[in-house]
Amino acid sequence: MRYLHIDSPRPRIAVFDFTDCEGCELQLANKEETLVPFLNAVEIVNFREIATGAGEDYEIAFVEGAISRSDEVERLKAIRGKARLLVALGSCACFGGVNRMKNAYDLGAANAEIYGRTPKETLPVRSVKEVVPVDLEIPGCPVSKDEVERIVRHLVLDVPFAFHAYPVCVECKQRFTTCLMEKGQLCLGPIVRAGCEAPCPAGGLGCWGCRGPAEAPNLEEFFALARERGFTDQEINERMAFFGGFEGVVVGGTR
Ligand code: SF4
Ligand code: SF4
Ligand code: SF4
Repeated sequence: MRYLHIDSPRPRIAVFDFTDCEGCELQLANKEETLVPFLNAVEIVNFREIATGAGEDYEIAFVEGAISRSDEVERLKAIRGKARLLVALGSCACFGGVNRMKNAYDLGAANAEIYGRTPKETLPVRSVKEVVPVDLEIPGCPVSKDEVERIVRHLVLDVPFAFHAYPVCVECKQRFTTCLMEKGQLCLGPIVRAGCEAPCPAGGLGCWGCRGPAEAPNLEEFFALARERGFTDQEINERMAFFGGFEGVVVGGTR
């Protein structure tokens, strides 16, 4: 049996988008130096953003985006019915992403304010796994093309893939970035899953948590550390809520 039940040595893949910006799809088409080997490793049968044709005989469906309309629910279920392996691609698909912030507001009032007498249908935002079973989640806003390529290599070679369990701080230290928490910035690096190679702290911006929680994050210690440096519970909660990966995690009682 091959890894995650994919038999073909050159898996047939499809990529679909829902409520999102399509930036994760763009990542798949990016990075010219590895694009040819990547395209040789898979057979693309349906990928609107970069290919013509809309084949239905895919084994792996990469699903990008959150789910926020009833027609999306139906389309996603149909895709799930056809795919042997369904991969949630990016933070919108894994957690709801930045779209999830709208769940904190009265959607009826927002609809009336924006669309007046012609309101649009809009459901509370859900991640893909809240609607259909998901086999694999690749977080990131956007996803790391390197990581997607590694996962596809593992699928093709029949070797199980494991995400890093440790947090972003490890990769941040590996590139000798001075800690931004020591410079007065809030950074979620201690509790967020590594794999991005910590580009945000390296660029002078604290981590906003696009990859979701690390494995068994020490939340209490992080909250104590952040409070000690003067950050309020509201600031910490707003930061954790940004990409939706910390749904249900709240410091100090309210968000
Ligand atoms: S995860 Fe980020 S880059 Fe990917 S589709 Fe969502 S908003 Fe765009
Ligand atoms: S800047 Fe952020 S990611 Fe880097 S070491 Fe400090 S807390 Fe960790
Ligand atoms: S540092 Fe944080 S916000 Fe930046 S890419 Fe990595 S996980 Fe995402």
